[in-house]
Amino acid sequence: MDINLMGFDVSAARHKPETIRHSEQACPFCDRANLTDVIATEGDMIFLRNKYNVIEGADQFVLIEGRACKSDMPAYTKEHMHALIRFGLRMWQELRESGRYEAVLFFKNYGPLSGGTIRHPHMQLVGLPHVR
Ligand SMILES: [Zn+2]
Repeated sequence: MDINLMGFDVSAARHKPETIRHSEQACPFCDRANLTDVIATEGDMIFLRNKYNVIEGADQFVLIEGRACKSDMPAYTKEHMHALIRFGLRMWQELRESGRYEAVLFFKNYGPLSGGTIRHPHMQLVGLPHVR
């Protein structure tokens, strides 16, 4: 069986900032005043549209987990972890109930081998209008 489930737009990916291997680059998620297409915030968490839509035909979103750039889940308080998962699930549910997508993915890619490009802790949500 040879089915291509998702197309990856390499040209869009080429322009993405990269702060994992190039830690000297400015972090776009720390520059909160210049974030665009913010959909919702809760405490220090921000849910917004991903500037770099690399999955063809899909709507991509980012959940910035907090202000700290060099932190991640093991360092979070129990309260922040609970608030983060609650907020993420609420955004996921809202996308699911919007009627625009056949499926909505909710995941976190972490570390240099994950294909991620931004060190600042974040998760991703992807709305797929059609699932092949
Ligand atoms: Zn940052």
